[in-house]
Amino acid sequence: AELPHDDFRCGTVALAGRPNVGKSTLLNALIGFRLSIVSPRPQTTRHRILGIATSEAGQIMYVDTPGLHRGAKRAMNRSLNRAARSAISEVDLVVQVIEAGRWTDEDEALYDALVEQKVPRLLVINKVDLTKDKSTMLPFVAELMARHSFDDVYYVSALKEKGLKELEKGILKRLPVQPPVFGEDEVTDRSERFLAAEMVREQLMLRLDQELPYATTVEIEQFSDRPDGVAEIHAVIWVERDGQKAIVIGNGGAQLKAIGTSARRHMERTFERKVFLRLWVKVREGWVDDETMLKKFGYTD
Ligand code: GDP
Ligand code: MG
Repeated sequence: AELPHDDFRCGTVALAGRPNVGKSTLLNALIGFRLSIVSPRPQTTRHRILGIATSEAGQIMYVDTPGLHRGAKRAMNRSLNRAARSAISEVDLVVQVIEAGRWTDEDEALYDALVEQKVPRLLVINKVDLTKDKSTMLPFVAELMARHSFDDVYYVSALKEKGLKELEKGILKRLPVQPPVFGEDEVTDRSERFLAAEMVREQLMLRLDQELPYATTVEIEQFSDRPDGVAEIHAVIWVERDGQKAIVIGNGGAQLKAIGTSARRHMERTFERKVFLRLWVKVREGWVDDETMLKKFGYTD
């Protein structure tokens, strides 16, 4: 590929941060596309996802990472940790995302791990929309910077899309001058099939209580384009026990129907065509602890 112009920048940027600070929301805002699923629950993101933003100035390939999980007893959490670690090695720049006004032990532990990477490091303070008294921000940041080293600090609200242009500029100028890797219309390295599974999983995260979402995963058994232009998608929701299956289906199938309707609408917007979605709920005991099943379900990072 050729350089579009002398100062075209291109590189990979890891969005790191403890669970729930808003990494996925930020990724979506930066690429202008609802790619990474978002819910108020920690551990919503289970996969390494590349989101691509291309402009006149350059191409930024963002890596959204599952947060690091402490005390990873279950095989799935260990797999998430491997994915998070591999996502932050081999990048050109690391963005550590935190919540405005909060620096926790988990942020500190992640910082210690990120310092090992010999690449530029930016601090992004997200959710500034939640800070009522802005005068508290300066002492908070001054305190932080006295004990930590970052190349720069940015204040953003991923939700309200504030401060993103400045952040983008700060990222671009620290990336290498090199030709783009992806075409200018590409927003991700992931397939529609993968995104479809994520959209069903997003509904499970949003609608199921307590521990149940963590006992579920979604497998796409069929994704085909029919002659009438409709995408026909068959998805299996895997759970660990019969009782969980009953809850996912709900009274008279109401819960499953609601999951399907919302997921289908999201798919139709994203894939820009009509979608026929069929859902099944199946039981596979202990899949969360089973490395072989995790591979089958795509947790292979
Ligand atoms: P992740 O675990 O770091 O990927 O976090 P998510 O992107 O999934 O976001 C976690 C929660 O924080 C969700 O409920 C988001 O809507 C919320 N959130 C993310 N960014 C912002 C923000 O800028 N302001 C506010 N008020 N909430 C946000
Ligand atoms: Mg996330």
